[in-house]
Amino acid sequence: MKTWTNFLRSALSLGLIASGSLVALAQSATHDHQRCGQQHALEQLYERSPETRASVQAAEQAVQDYVRQNAGNLRVQEDIIYIPVVVHVVWKSAIQNLSDAQIQSQIDVLNEDYAMTNLDRASLRSSFNSIAANTQIQFCLAETDPDGNFTTGIIRKQTGKASFNDTDTAGWDGVKESAYGGSDAWPRSQYLNMWVCNLDPTSGVLGYAYPPGVAGALDGVVMNYRYFGREGVVIPPYNLGRTTTHEVGHWLGLRHIWGDGGCGVDDGISDTPTASGPYFGCPSPTATTCGSLDLWENYMDYTDDRCMVMFTEGQGVAMRNVLNTVRSSIPVSPKCYFNTGVEEPALAVGNGLQLFPNPVTGNVIQLVLEQAAATEGMLQIFDATGRQVWSQVQPAGWQQVSLLLPELPNGFYLLQWSGMNSEITQRFVISK
Ligand SMILES: [Zn+2]
Repeated sequence: MKTWTNFLRSALSLGLIASGSLVALAQSATHDHQRCGQQHALEQLYERSPETRASVQAAEQAVQDYVRQNAGNLRVQEDIIYIPVVVHVVWKSAIQNLSDAQIQSQIDVLNEDYAMTNLDRASLRSSFNSIAANTQIQFCLAETDPDGNFTTGIIRKQTGKASFNDTDTAGWDGVKESAYGGSDAWPRSQYLNMWVCNLDPTSGVLGYAYPPGVAGALDGVVMNYRYFGREGVVIPPYNLGRTTTHEVGHWLGLRHIWGDGGCGVDDGISDTPTASGPYFGCPSPTATTCGSLDLWENYMDYTDDRCMVMFTEGQGVAMRNVLNTVRSSIPVSPKCYFNTGVEEPALAVGNGLQLFPNPVTGNVIQLVLEQAAATEGMLQIFDATGRQVWSQVQPAGWQQVSLLLPELPNGFYLLQWSGMNSEITQRFVISK
């Protein structure tokens, strides 16, 4: 990568940067803000653990082999892949202990950005419309923990550490290990781990993520609490959740759009134009390096949150290739069941079913139908994997019933009433 000062000098001499972005660029040159810490974190990790370099290369090779075997697949066409997320909030002062709403707002941003339903997508220059992509990748806060118990997908851990710094023994990665004042990762075969903390405020780094291939305990996204989500205590110009969109792109194998080098270095994605370096702020619509218009609206650039609005088809395919190879256990992990409605029977309209109490804390539940059942039918309970765990035949005319449930582990369940002409489902949680 070019140094910031060299980049600034060459950009200025070419007249490439709109005046509004000069301040942001100058700030970055003095490391007031470090838009993304991936390169720095990787260098530090390779120093602490030299063998990691080979395992990251091996992961890259595995994806490339898959691409060779599936040549010609240039469009995102498959079904939606859902990624369960566990957010570790590692906090010392109360302001760092983010609200549920701020955390959910980040999940919302991810789902919009990866599905291209973000409203600001309309600001993309028209010459790039044809390559903007819905990646068919979606996210949920995890609903069951590694033991199968109900979870909100949010872990709150108080720490004695005022911040996690790269001068610490474990570097920034200390946030990922309880031994260093952090919170231990959940299995990466089933979850995307995200840690939110006071990340090295002196360096001004917004966040970082490793590419596939690092040790499981270190695999995931780390974010400074000031740049996670789009409400609460976020600070502009990085207040719209795009840093996390960018870092998840790294976690799914994407490189920076300029390839972390000059015009001779590519990001490995065929439809992204070559660029000589990153853009900051919100650049000029005619910004050009390497002989073509630069795609600074891309999430893998360094522009302000309000100016990055899209992934390309090539990037979408590349991320899905990672999910089909080195992260292939994620798409079959059933941890996003209820928030997505996957395989969930349609809810009946105008004939409600109420269930008390919910969450269920004992072994007895009460059901009340809005209208008495017209026919005989069956009550069934399914667990989060869709397996039937209980059933009972009910006579015509029933409207209220008290049920004694078998011993069931904590978690999400679906209760279904199926009469001859009606089918009603109701979600509930067992939390004892
Ligand atoms: Zn980055």
